[in-house]
Order: sequence, then structure tokens, then C-alpha cells
Amino acid sequence: MRTTLFWFRNDLRLHDQRALKQAVEHAQTHGQALLLVYVHEPVQDAPTAWGFRRMGTHRRRFLADTLADLQKSLEALGQRLVLLHGPVAEVLPACASHVGADTVFCEDIAAPEEEAQVQALINAGLTVKTLWQSSLIEPDALPFAAEDMPQVFTVFRQRIEAAGLQPLPPLPAPVQLPAPPEALTNLPGWTADAATLLQAHTQDAAHERANFTYTQAHCRGGESSALAHLQNYLTPPWPDRYKQTRNALQGRHTSSHWSPWLATGAVSARRIWAQLQAYEQQHGSNDGTYWLWFELLWRDNFRMLHLQHGPQLYAARGLSNLPKPSHFPKDFARWCSGQTGEPIVDAGMRELAATGFTSNRMRQIVASFLVHDLSCDWRAGAAWFESQLVDFDVQSNQGNWLYVSGRGTDPRVGRRFNPAKQTQDHDPQGRYRQVWLA
Ligand code: FAD
Repeated sequence: MRTTLFWFRNDLRLHDQRALKQAVEHAQTHGQALLLVYVHEPVQDAPTAWGFRRMGTHRRRFLADTLADLQKSLEALGQRLVLLHGPVAEVLPACASHVGADTVFCEDIAAPEEEAQVQALINAGLTVKTLWQSSLIEPDALPFAAEDMPQVFTVFRQRIEAAGLQPLPPLPAPVQLPAPPEALTNLPGWTADAATLLQAHTQDAAHERANFTYTQAHCRGGESSALAHLQNYLTPPWPDRYKQTRNALQGRHTSSHWSPWLATGAVSARRIWAQLQAYEQQHGSNDGTYWLWFELLWRDNFRMLHLQHGPQLYAARGLSNLPKPSHFPKDFARWCSGQTGEPIVDAGMRELAATGFTSNRMRQIVASFLVHDLSCDWRAGAAWFESQLVDFDVQSNQGNWLYVSGRGTDPRVGRRFNPAKQTQDHDPQGRYRQVWLA
């Protein structure tokens, strides 16, 4: 019996899984088994050019919990998630040949490394069917071609709103899946459990003031907690207050905290949107609920930017004509460890290293400080965020770093956040600094 292969990437969920639905239909039409895989590449365990491991401990734990949750849900449907360790270009073709698969289904990710992975599978002779499913709005529904996308976010948003574009309704989770193939023993690169695959260690109890306590059940990685959290946040008064509270440096409900689950795909943006709409129907719409849509459109905007500019977004100059950035490794190291001497920045960087999360406002403050005050290379900062953030998302991270460093799409080039003013505005009593500098 032949097999259809579905490769989970940053879409680690069962609800709103159009790519998985395609794979299931293919398997059913051709009377094939269905093999579900996830691949962890060794490059994630190696040091980056900036001198630290590419995937840090917080991300490992959050991702391992996400995979474990998905495994459990699949087992309840008589399926299993096969965890593979090795380069995608090697383990997937080997796995396909082992189980008699010639077609791989997966989500489409518009970023250079992810596109190269797909190309490598095609080069290895596999048919790869990718499907875009990570944004609110589908790229081909946009009222402009990706290459003609407006450079300024406000224009992007206004054109979407003027066209009355709405996300596709999210799909429910499947209640049945085709069975896995029988020949599963000795699969190349197979690793039994997610914690071993990711070398994820149990974390100590979370810091009592952590913004996002992923070590506790309500913030744990995975679709189950994601959906429970979504329900929990979409309860009055939290969404209504969002616009007023979103810039706070600390607090469990000051912002939605959807990003870690969105980044791993444990929840889909469309599912969030559908539940947000239901909330508005029941409790009324207001500035807060609108602003959540507004921020999710920012996320879409950074995704679409990749369709427009591709690898240019990773170049030292970014989209600008500015000279190549300077870099000072000792200052960069002081920034990473929260030892710059600037209290608000050090507090934010220590929070990030201790918990794998920090608020949007702190991200802006510390990123600006690295680029504009320490004159370091924005790409080093982006790499450190990639290593540390439990919500690392390649498009959001790259887009925001470019934006802050004046090498992206910000119409006000070179947005420097004055640390003294930021401290006065956002931590006037010093509570946040006290927690993280103690
Ligand atoms: P909320 O304020 O509740 O917003 C709701 C959702 O909207 C978020 O979950 C997120 O999906 C989206 N969103 C909000 N702001 C932005 C934004 N500026 N850009 C893109 N999407 C946004 N976000 C990531 O998800 N992954 C990253 O790797 C990442 N790196 C960043 C790097 C820098 C330098 C900066 C300044 C921002 C970065 N962000 C990143 C964006 C933003 O900080 C986080 O999305 C937000 O803090 C997550 O918290 P929340 O879910 O409570 O957001």
C-alpha cells in the first residue's frame, strides 16, 4: 500500500488545517495510508554566526509541549506524529521512500530557508503540494498583486478594509483520519518523544512576574491550551481594554498573548478572528476589539512583505540604501545579558532571557537601543530574539527588526526610542525595573 505524507511545519494543530485536509483527501482518493511527520533540523542545535545556539531553551520547551499535545490529539484519532531528526532534505526523501510516498503535503511558508527546504524535496524527486494557511487574509484575495503591495502599513490596511475583505471561515478539526502505514519501524531519523527530539529540559518554576508563564498549564505549548486561552482572553473586559493596556510592560491580560501559539500554529489567525467576531456579536465591538484585528493585520503585512521582497529582507541593508550596519560584539554581549547600564533596557533583556517573552513595548525599546544607541547590527539582535522568544516567528521578527532599524517599511526612517522618555511613560514608579533588576 502506498502512502501520502503530511509534513507539519509551523501549523501544529488540527483545527483550520486546510493543508492537512488536502492530504487526507489525496490519501482517501488514492486509497493510501497517511504518514504525519515533524522534522527538527540539526541546524537549530548549532551556534549561529553571532555565537549562541540557534534555538534556545525556552523555545525548545514550548515547542516540545506543542508537539506532545499534537501527538496526544492524533493518538485519539488512531494516528501518530512521527518525529524526525535531521536535515529536511535528507530525512523526508528517505522517509518517503521507506513508506512508499511520492507526494508531500505541507503549509507554504514564504521565507528563504523554508522555501529552500521545499525546493530540496522537489530536487529529490518528490511532488510537493504546499498550501498557504498562516495569515488572516489569503495573499491571492488581496486587492493588489503581492509585488505591488503598498509600502506603508496604513495604506495596506485601508485597502483591505475598503475592499471589505474577510478571512476564510476556519475549518473544524477532523474527526477521522486515514490510518498510518504499517512499515514504520526503522524510519531514518525517528526520535521517540518530543522532549528528546528538541533536547528540551524541564524548566524551573516560572518567575512569579513573568508575562507569559509557559511552564504553567494555562500557557503551555499546544493546541489544547491555545484554544482554552483564546476563550479565556475573549471574556469581558479584556478585549475591550486592549487598546488602552496593550503598551503595558507587564500583566497577564494587558495584551492577548496569542503570539506563542500563533507562531507554532497551535491556533490559526482565522480561528482567532472567528471567535473575536463572535465576541463582538455578543458583547459589542469597540476600539479594543478593532485594535486586535489591526494588530493581526500587522502580522499579515509582515508575511506578505516576504512575497514582495524575499531574501532582500535578510540583507544587511534591508530595504534601505543605508550603509551596512556597524557591530560591536562586546556591546552586543552586554545587551544580550542585560548589562548595558541602561536600567529599562537591562530589565527587558533579563526578562527575555529568564522567561522567553517580553512585551511589544519592551521589544521596541531594547531593539532601538541595540541599533541606535549601541550602533550594533540589527541582524544580531534579530538572531538573539529568534533564539530566545517562545513566539519567534520569522516574518514578524524580521519585519519588526527592519522597521525599528529604519531599514524596512517605516515611513519615519530610524525610529529611536528614547530610554528616559520610555521609562517615564511606561515604568514611572519603577515596578517593572524592580522585578527584573533585583
Ligand atoms: P498583542 O498585542 O495582543 O497583539 C495580538 C496579535 O497581533 C499578536 O499575538 C501578534 O500575532 C500580532 N501582532 C501584534 N503586534 C505585532 C507586530 N508588531 N508585528 C507582527 N504581529 C503583531 N511577534 C511575533 O509573533 N514573533 C516575533 O518573533 C516577533 N518579534 C518581534 C521583534 C521586534 C523587534 C518587535 C518590536 C516586535 C516583534 N514581534 C514579534 C511583534 C510583537 O511584539 C508581538 O507579536 C507581541 O508582543 C506578542 O504579544 P501579544 O500576543 O500579547 O500581542
